[in-house]
Amino acid sequence: MSNPFFSSLAEFAKGRDSRKFTIEEVARYFMSRTEQLNPSLNVCLSLNENAINRARQLDARLARNGADSPFFGYPIMIKDNLEMEGFPTTCASKILEGYISRRTATSVARLLSLGAIVLGKTNLDEFAMGSSTENSAFGPSKNPWNPTRVPGGSSGGSAAAVAAGLAPLSLGSDTGGSIRQPAAFCGVLGIKPTYGRISRSGLVAFSSSLDQIGPFSGSASDALEALVAMGGRDSLDMTTTERDPGEMRRDFAATRMEETQIGIPEVLFGEGLDPSIRKRLLELREALGGKGAREVPVTLPHSAYGINVYYLVATSEASSNLSRFDGVRYGFRVKNPADLRTMYEETRDAGFGDEVKRRILLGTFALSAGYQEAFYRKARKVQSLIRKDFMEAFQHCDAILTPTSPTPPFAFGEKTGDPLSMYLSDVYTITANLAGLPALSVPVGLDGQGLPVGAHLIGPPWSEGRLLKLAEFISALYPMPLPEVHAGHPTVKGPGDRG
Ligand code: GLN
Repeated sequence: MSNPFFSSLAEFAKGRDSRKFTIEEVARYFMSRTEQLNPSLNVCLSLNENAINRARQLDARLARNGADSPFFGYPIMIKDNLEMEGFPTTCASKILEGYISRRTATSVARLLSLGAIVLGKTNLDEFAMGSSTENSAFGPSKNPWNPTRVPGGSSGGSAAAVAAGLAPLSLGSDTGGSIRQPAAFCGVLGIKPTYGRISRSGLVAFSSSLDQIGPFSGSASDALEALVAMGGRDSLDMTTTERDPGEMRRDFAATRMEETQIGIPEVLFGEGLDPSIRKRLLELREALGGKGAREVPVTLPHSAYGINVYYLVATSEASSNLSRFDGVRYGFRVKNPADLRTMYEETRDAGFGDEVKRRILLGTFALSAGYQEAFYRKARKVQSLIRKDFMEAFQHCDAILTPTSPTPPFAFGEKTGDPLSMYLSDVYTITANLAGLPALSVPVGLDGQGLPVGAHLIGPPWSEGRLLKLAEFISALYPMPLPEVHAGHPTVKGPGDRG
């Protein structure tokens, strides 16, 4: 997060406007840091060779007309499942090899139109399926705090990029926790907005009814500005809200810790939670009480089924969304297939990694005739009960506090042999997607081993502004040190590694 120029978006804008530095200087700094550290961290899958040129053009425009947005000249990175015209989009999959995007995701386009500079596209679990980036076909990213640990996933590259100071802000996507869990593992702030807040147009779909795009940043106010910039109605995504994204700024300004009721689902602080994380969270609860917040006990009885429901709904949608990768329309195709059918089969067999295949099989099974009623439809019913529990809880509280992840960042290979234990990484985060709710992870210091711990806040629909203000209060209690990142850590291989 730290860099020699600024510590926040607002400070960047001030320094830029007073000509303390040029946009080009800033872009060059982040680019060369990335070139130096990426060979060991493996957080970027591609770099924008035009970034410095764009910075120079923006400097010229700044000299002529000034800047009308804090994002004018601001360097960012985007997860490589977000499209940008003229650039490769791999989704960390072999099947998209050679594919060049012909459009730009609305979220990215809105930041670009304000003058942001995309420095590069970040690593992820293949098609955003995973919790460690180990499922990337191009090798896993490393956790900047400890190169033997995973950065989390699926947006591990975006989280690690901000933590390692390769960009001050990045974008990820979150279907079941893929922004919040890596944010917790890398010690940065990550927020998944309310479903419909940000257009999904140009995001390669995993589970369309759960996917949302959101930012990683060093501070709550930077995340707020990014959400406001990206949010709002988009004719290319009919699920986007008509609500004014500016409401988030107003809510942010109006939130006070003294008047806040924090919902505590006590069971979630019990079994299965790593003791060092529990300790940090209990300290946080006490500190919030000291600032005048009130604890309210809440029960979320159906959340216990969150993982089960998620792995039926998400895989069902994925099996349909991923049928478009057939060797005809995008990227990779096997050479000399015997006939059309073999071409489909062999392309998908060679192009997709094991986890993606596992999900397609699960989803196809859950939707098949005879099983649909027992699995898919039942899961949808339980999903609506999960949502109902939350809406009842929010009658009595403003936000619900849980840990973000049950464990600290784990070692490479620790969970790859056991998909179910990997799936449990998302026990705390998955229900917010199932209920369409905004939720964030904010760093609350380090555990005994020097690894970051995240606190997770879930709010009612459209409460991003308030959640971010609460995160700002929490950040003030836990000034985070910076990881020491070195070039030259050896690269690691993951199970998804087919590079
Ligand atoms: N880890 C979860 C999964 O593997 C969530 C992924 C995500 O949010 N994209 O599906």
